[in-house]
Amino acid sequence: MQLDSFIPENFLILIVDDISHNLKLVGEMLDEVGYNTTFAISGSQALNRLQNNQIDLILLDLMMPEMDGLQVCKLLKSDPELQEIPIIFLTANHEQDNLVNAFELGAIDYITKPFIKNELLARVKTHLTLKQTTDNLRKALFKLKRLAQLDPLTQILNRRSFFEFAEAEFNRSIRDGTIFSLLMLDLDHFKQINDHYGHQIGDRTLITFTSVVGNYLREFDHFGRYGGEEFVILLPETNLEDAFQLAQGICRLIADLSIPTEKGNLQITVSIGIAIFESQDTRIEDIFDRADQSLYQAKAQGRNTCCVYQSN
Ligand code: GH3
Ligand code: MG
Ligand code: MG
Repeated sequence: MQLDSFIPENFLILIVDDISHNLKLVGEMLDEVGYNTTFAISGSQALNRLQNNQIDLILLDLMMPEMDGLQVCKLLKSDPELQEIPIIFLTANHEQDNLVNAFELGAIDYITKPFIKNELLARVKTHLTLKQTTDNLRKALFKLKRLAQLDPLTQILNRRSFFEFAEAEFNRSIRDGTIFSLLMLDLDHFKQINDHYGHQIGDRTLITFTSVVGNYLREFDHFGRYGGEEFVILLPETNLEDAFQLAQGICRLIADLSIPTEKGNLQITVSIGIAIFESQDTRIEDIFDRADQSLYQAKAQGRNTCCVYQSN
């Protein structure tokens, strides 16, 4: 991972102090090295600035009339949107007793008045660097997590992460009695597609298939690649009848697809097995087994069709 270099111009610092001379003094020190700054002369004005700007760090006066720095700090730390912004307190020497409270409330550092320019700049830079690194790590972690969930070819959920979603849905059904349906899909005679058109076109066909089906599904449905040319769809809060209709829709949509290739237009069909959560199920695998059996029936019935699991 490439770490960003530190550019003061990229940061916006909020300075809060009820004495405008202090605002000017601190503001000038920060402006000089390139930081963007904004000011507030009271706690309530500070909250207003925070609502309307993307603030990277706050220099907060401890003692202010009406709402003091500690109260502002407490409010910020209880707001999920704002709680990550580092707060450095500005204090006079005789206010040291309150600093323990400030740290307990989530302040990251303090600077005593009268301000020493180099000390102020050093502390500000340290905490902004720290925040930048934390933010970058958080973003990288989010990307990695997302990447680890997806199948590299089709960009839909991979088998493992699909299972995780399915297990969560299963546990919800056990707990709340909600239902869900599961579709297992397998492309028909896909080996012939590869043999005739080549593996690369085969890959492209799998991508087109997942994109078409993905667009047909609702936002809260889960779509995963089970392996090779087999796919799974979990439909939350969907009964068998609706699941069957949706599966039929997918069958038709896929059969109507025409994928242009150098060897002429390519057509595919899909077979789908459908099962629903049943209250006596003890494991998510029970539903997968039933959907798999229905898929087997759909293949046996000649493919390009959907079958619902029937117990005998
Ligand atoms: P059926 O109708 O019975 O499902 O026949 P089928 O040919 O689809 O089934 P089979 O299981 O015999 O073959 C599946 C084929 O899918 C063989 C394999 O090469 C191909 N396949 C699996 N994964 C990929 C992939 O990632 N890319 C490509 N191009 N082909 C794949
Ligand atoms: Mg197949
Ligand atoms: Mg197969």
